[in-house]
Order: sequence, then C-alpha cells, then structure tokens
Amino acid sequence: MSANRSCLCSANCEIDCTRFNELKDKYKMTKFTDFGLNASLLRAIKEGGYEDTTPIQKQAIPAVLNGKDMIAIAQTGTGKTAAFSLPLIQKLLAGEGKRTARSARALILAPTRELALQISENISAFSKYLHLKTAEVYGGASANLQIRAMAAGVDILIATPGRLLDLMTQKHIILDKAEFLVLDEADRMLDMGFIRDIQKIIARLPSSRQTLLFSATMPTSVEKLANSILRNPLRIEIAPAATTAEKVTQHVLMVPKDQKRALLAHVLEDKNLSRVLIFTRTKHGANKVARQLNTIGVPSDAIHGNKSQNARQKALETFRAGGIRALVATDIAARGIDVDGVTHVINFELPNEPESYVHRIGRTARAGAAGASLSFCDPEERALLKSIEKSIRQPVPVLADHPFHLEAINTHPAEKADRVRGEKGKTGGAGDGRRRNGNKARRPHAAASSKQAANPQARPNKPRRNRNRNRGAQQVAA
Ligand code: AMP
Repeated sequence: MSANRSCLCSANCEIDCTRFNELKDKYKMTKFTDFGLNASLLRAIKEGGYEDTTPIQKQAIPAVLNGKDMIAIAQTGTGKTAAFSLPLIQKLLAGEGKRTARSARALILAPTRELALQISENISAFSKYLHLKTAEVYGGASANLQIRAMAAGVDILIATPGRLLDLMTQKHIILDKAEFLVLDEADRMLDMGFIRDIQKIIARLPSSRQTLLFSATMPTSVEKLANSILRNPLRIEIAPAATTAEKVTQHVLMVPKDQKRALLAHVLEDKNLSRVLIFTRTKHGANKVARQLNTIGVPSDAIHGNKSQNARQKALETFRAGGIRALVATDIAARGIDVDGVTHVINFELPNEPESYVHRIGRTARAGAAGASLSFCDPEERALLKSIEKSIRQPVPVLADHPFHLEAINTHPAEKADRVRGEKGKTGGAGDGRRRNGNKARRPHAAASSKQAANPQARPNKPRRNRNRNRGAQQVAA
C-alpha cells in the first residue's frame, strides 16, 4: 500500500480502487466553507461551534442553494435546522426580493411554539452579523405584538399554522410574494390536525416559491401533502427511525401502574440521572409527576399545552441551565425541545404511537451523543410496547432488577427469554433490594436475572398471576 495515503478499504489495493473512492467520498467531511456562503454568515456559523457539516447539511445545503425543492426524512438532532436555515439565509441575501408591509420573503411553518422559537433562535444566531428581519407568530401569545412585528414586513417569518392563518385571514399578514416555504416536522403538524390550515396557507402563497419539507416519518398523509406542494423534489433520507433509536441504550421496566411513582423515585436515587426528561401522556399527569418529584426533593417542572408560553419557556430555560433536574412533558409540548446533555429520557407512560417513542428517546441522543431511556410499562401498556418494538425493529431489553418488577407483564415465555436482561444496577439508586411495595411486586433474585442476561435460553422467572392481563391495552393511564 502506498505510504502517502491511508487507504480506507481493507484490501491491499491501489490508490484508485473503486472501493477506496467510494469510502473516501462517504467519509469525506464537508465543511461549511465549501458552499460559498456569505462571509458574515460563515463567521456566525464558526462562532456557533459548527465546523463540519452533518449528513443532512452536506446534502441539503447545495441542493437548496441550487433552487431545488426538497423532501427530507430527518429527525430533530440531525442538524436539520441549519440544513434549511443556512441556504435560506444565503438565498435571501443574494436575492432581489424586498421586504414589503405585512409580508415575509420566507415562511417557516412548525407544529409548536417551542419549535418555532427554537428555529428562530438558530436563525438569529446565524444572522447576527446580517441585516435580516425575522418574526415569530404562534398561538398563546399576544396577537397584537405579532401584528406589530409584521407591520413593516420581515425577511423570515416562523409560525405555527393556526395563529398564522388567523392573522392572514384578518389581512394582517400577506404572503403572496413569499419566495420560500419550509415545513418543519410535517408529520407532527398533520398529527396535530393542521392539514386544512396548512393547505389554506399554501393556497395563498405564490406557486413560483421554493419549498422544503422536513418530516421525521413519512406516513401516507405526509407523502400526499408533499406530492401536492413540491415540484420535482430532491429526496433525502437521513436516519430511519431505527437508526436513531439504536443510539440510545433502551430499557423497559415492568411495573404495576400504581407503583410507577415509587419506581420513578427509586430510579432517581441514582445521581447519574442528572438531566432527565420525563414523558407522561396527559397534562394532568405531567403536573402530578412534577409535584411528586418536588415533594421528594427532585427539583422539577412540567411543560404542556395548558401552561402559558412564558411559563413553558421559563421551565425550559431553567432545565437547560441545570436549575431543575427533571422536566416532565407531554409529547406535543416536548416537540422542539433542544436541550443538550439530557442524560435520560423516562417514559413514565408509553406513548400511543410508536413514532412518539422514537421522538421521545431521541431527545437524549442529540447531535451524535449517546443517551439512555427507561420506559415504565404496566400491564395495560403491553400492546403499546409490542408495537414500539415492531416499529423500531428491535426488542427493548427488560430491566428486571428493581424492587417493583412485575414479571407477569412478560407474558409469553419465548418473548421473556428474548427480553429479560436483568442488568443489575442499571437503574442505579437503591440497588439494595429493599422491598418498597408490600406484596404487590417483588425484587427478582439477582442470580436469576444475571443468569438470564448471560443465557437468554435460561428458564425465566415464573410468571405471576396478573389480574389486569386481559384489559384493553389502549386504555389511557390516569
Ligand atoms: P437540529 O437537528 O437542527 O435540532 O440540531 C440538533 C443540534 O445539533 C443542535 O443543538 C445544533 O446546534 C447542533 N448542530 C447542528 N448542526 C451542527 C454541526 N454541523 N456541528 C455541530 N453541531 C451542530
């Protein structure tokens, strides 16, 4: 092998072997300086600590700069915000368009206020040395202030569909000259019932615009929308759900429903769980869990749709700054949470849709980092667990070594052998086998769980009778 190059293929081959060139291309890092971006934009990118592009940025930035429509299947955490924001900013700078009253040159639609603000923060950071005007429009905040912010027109408007449509209908916002449209987290916007609003908004945009659509998943509804609004788009698929899920060390903890709070307190005894995002299915549930945690000395707050925008932002900022250890959230409120260093995601209740599971656990594996998730599964949630495992195409190992383990949830013997790992001490906290739940649950023999971990064929613990076994799995936990 030639000494002046390190061949990336394992064969003893020549410098221009096909395999070598393929790998060279695959692993070649593209830098932001490779795209001919504006110098002030590059300066801000550098100051933001970005040097090499992520895969989605590498593909999307040149395509968008070339004026292509694009559909990207990518999740939060892949760097998708910069993938659309940077070429958008560059094109706005280079373009001829002008700001006019009540208008925007580019519209970015996002499902939630949190995500809209997150995108806006990113764009403000990228354009700190530029003279671009941005505005945000979303529900739950003063419409008057938003109307005022739009009065002279802006370059980039970041909005949630409901409030935007209201203000467009009232003629406070006019988008008939918009040059760019970005739909971020399109799947979530459709899940939230925004399809009609989105269609009405798009009908008032010029058809000559450039359109980019980002979605973590591609259900038929999103595909249909994409087909109706994109022209000959470039299709980019970054990380299928399973890939993101693989970066997270996942475990499921079988537990009776009425022991979940005790289990949560138990796992939080482990100080390694230092920045924890906890998911509940209901707003009421989120409040209850946050209250309980504060009572036992775990500083926590809850965010959900019933909280004011200020309260949500404050909770998020405190969590980000390390002022609280746990943030309890519902799925919708959690969209757009961009907090680095989330050590653990805890699914206090399993989500009804498998996609939400992937979104949830993805909060702990951001920008290439690893993470861990603990899912509490009660007897009624067993079917939800099954559909999650089907969707991520892998079983979620059971962590049996905790005082509330309910073996009966692992009903099917074959499944049990597959799943039970009993990784002692992984939940941390009081791994001393103290019984906390009277007769309702028991700690399995440590020897039994480690034996199973070593040998999946080992005879699993004898299932305990479970009076809830036949109840409907879709029943929503209180
Ligand atoms: P996003 O998928 O846009 O939510 O980005 C996820 C996280 O990755 C954010 O905290 C970004 O600031 C960060 N990020 C995005 N692109 C890069 C990059 N090229 N280099 C370093 N960090 C990045």
